[in-house]
Formats: sequence, C-alpha cells, structure tokens
Amino acid sequence: MAAYKNLSVEELKELKTKLDAEFEEVKARGLNLDMSRGKPSAEQLNLSMGMMDVLTSDTDLICQEGVDCRNYGVLDGITEAKQLLADMMEVPKQNIIIFGNSSLNVMYDQIARAMTHGVLGSTPWAKLDKVKFLCPVPGYDRHFAITEHFGIEMINVPMTATGPDMDIVEKLVAEDDAIKGIWCVPKYSNPQGITYSDETVRRFARLKPAAKDFRIYWDNAYGIHHLYEDKQDQLIEILEECEKAGNPNLAYKFSSTSKISFPGSGIAAIASSDENLAEIRKQMQVQTIGHDKVNQLRHARFFGDINGMVEHMRKHADILRPKFDAVLETLDRELGGLEIGSWIAPRGGYFISFDSMEGCAKAIVAKAKEAGLVMTGAGATFPYGKDPKDSNIRIAPSYPTLEDLKVAAEIFVLSVKIVSVDKLLGNL
Ligand code: PMP
Repeated sequence: MAAYKNLSVEELKELKTKLDAEFEEVKARGLNLDMSRGKPSAEQLNLSMGMMDVLTSDTDLICQEGVDCRNYGVLDGITEAKQLLADMMEVPKQNIIIFGNSSLNVMYDQIARAMTHGVLGSTPWAKLDKVKFLCPVPGYDRHFAITEHFGIEMINVPMTATGPDMDIVEKLVAEDDAIKGIWCVPKYSNPQGITYSDETVRRFARLKPAAKDFRIYWDNAYGIHHLYEDKQDQLIEILEECEKAGNPNLAYKFSSTSKISFPGSGIAAIASSDENLAEIRKQMQVQTIGHDKVNQLRHARFFGDINGMVEHMRKHADILRPKFDAVLETLDRELGGLEIGSWIAPRGGYFISFDSMEGCAKAIVAKAKEAGLVMTGAGATFPYGKDPKDSNIRIAPSYPTLEDLKVAAEIFVLSVKIVSVDKLLGNL
C-alpha cells in the first residue's frame, strides 16, 4: 500500500470506512488485553521455581563469611551474592553493595540521601535553590517519577541511535552547576532497546561537570537480557572508563535480578568507586542491620555462578523472542511503507518503542483501549508525562500469551491506521 500521505481525501475517506468497520468487529469481541507494563509472564517466572527448592528446612544456611543467614549480620551482602552480581555487573566484587529486592529503591535512596546530606561533602541538594537532572528521552517513567517527587527540574535530552546526544550532555553539564545527574539505561534501553556505543560511554566517562556532586545514574537493568544468540549488543564498562578518565567517582551503577529471577523478590545492587561506596555504607548502617541474606543465599545457590545465570537468561530469551518477533512482524506487515510510524527492532530488553505521526500517540492509546487493549499511557516515556510531539508509545510484549499478543498487535496497528487517517483528514 502507498504511503498514507500520498492518498487523496477521497481515498482516505474510503480507507477510513473500511478501517472503522474492522474496528467495530474487533470491539464487539469484548477483549481484555494488556501490553502496558514490562512484566515477565508466568511462564518466565516458572523458570525460577527451582529457587524454592534450593533452601529447605534442613539446608545449612551458613554463608561464606561463616555467618548464619537466618540471623543479623553482614551489612552489604554475603560474599556469594556479591560474586554473582559483581560478575553480572562486570565489576570487581569489592566495588559492589547488595541491597534488598529493588534497584529502583536503591536509586530513590541515592537521590534522597543527596537531598538531605549531599554527595561526598557537598551542600545537601534540598538547601539549593535549584537542582536539575538530564533525562534522555524517551526514557523510563519511574526514573522520572523519582526526580519529580523530589522537585528536581528535568531537562529532556534526545536519544540517538548510539545513546543520548552527547554534544548536548557535555555542554549542559559543563555550564550549569545546578545539573546534578543524568538518568541512563545504557543497554537495551527502556523503551527503545538502544545500547550506548563505546564512544558514548567514553564521552560519559570524560564529562567535566560544573557540579562536583554531579553523578551519572547508570541503570543497567537489562545487562544480560539478550533476545538472540547470534545478535547481541556489547556495552563497555562505565566504572572502568571513569577510572581511566581520572573521574573515578562519576558514576553509580545499578542493577537487579528482577527480570532474571522474580520481580519484587530478587536482589538489587549498586556498584561504584571505593569512596562513593564508603559513603553509602555509612548511611546504610543507620538505615538497616542488613538486607535479606536468605534470599541472597537462595539466589547464589540457585544460579551457582554467572554461567548458570547466563544459561538461565537463554531460557527467558526462548520465551520472549517469539513475542517480540510477532509484534515486529505485525508492525512490518501492516505498517511498512505507510509512513505513519517508525519503530526500532531491539536485540534485547523488554520493550519496543513506536513513534507515530506527531500529535497522534494519545489518540492511538485511547483508540486501542476502546477495543480492550491497555497500552502504557502516551507521554509516560517523558518527564512530567509530556511528550512534546505526542508521538512515542511504549510496547511491552512480555506479559501476554503469544496468542493474545498477536491479537493485541493487530488491534494496535489498526488503531494506528485509524488515528493516522483521522489526522490526515484533519479530524484530530
Ligand atoms: N530500571 C529499569 C530501566 C526498568 O525497566 C525497571 C523495571 N521495569 C527497573 C529499573 C525496576 O527494577 P527493580 O525491580 O530492581 O526495582
């Protein structure tokens, strides 16, 4: 089919009548589908059920430190868990702290502490007139929610195919000391699935921020979440690059096993320089006597080592790949050549990012809802929920069954077509 923009008004009207009829048919089916949140499916969660068996009532729960995991002790994580997550995060095990069940919680704590106590002796941010953060867009809504919650002004930085636009990042951080951080999802980014190039990572490591308490919030949530055996992105290691660039304290790196074992019942960690971690431990010992060591031990014993974890991720990929492929196939088949949207085929992570014609995203999400399909709210991928072009929509294919997903993808493309025709006819 020809690009919609080349159709005459008559042709568009005819097309609209046909699409509306198709839509009414789908609507009449009273479907209830959800492509909104990046949750693993039950089938994926089942992969980790063996974790329930590694610890039984007669298991020895003494960790490598010689501490009984049932009791208090070991503030920053048992050695077994540190080794596993250090390998997963590609850092030395002395540069990691194991936390509780959520990396988002760790990120929140980092910012909360900077607000009340500053960063390595700087003025607490709460005492400053203005604190700003750079936000590569589109990005992860829950990052933006944290900075918004603390009243931190968010500045959009466009993403490119190789990561955030580094010309803008370098310029802004060098000239404005109110800019204290940047949110990054450097591998298989949420929502675009983009992995930062070596050059982007090196430019991050070499940043010369005006604020000495500026930090890169490097959320490597999808570090080992590949979809394909033969097509995998590589990301160079940020902490090592920072060290080499003479900026050892510049980055905090976060990750968790949320989408490896159980979201909400996994283990999270932060990795950073000795100095940054010393500051974090100091505060942490006021906050807790220690996190859940039984869960740490359960993870370490279930996966064994990083090889076990990588093997486990292949099983996730086998479940996820057909779902991503189904959505991408539908997008290609139904929207290819129409010039009413663009998307990126990711090699890993949890999302497909779709960009509609300007001014259409909200209407597309609303249209899909009418037919019983819930999508992530349009605008969610931008700070304050405001997509200036109203065009980005995040597609999360992981949770529905393959069968449901195929129907959901058809509803989505139909909604895109109808709204695009409306837009071209001036009906929006
Ligand atoms: N970071 C990113 C980029 C994510 O996509 C998600 C989950 N959607 C999280 C963090 C949440 O991680 P956790 O469960 O460890 O809090």
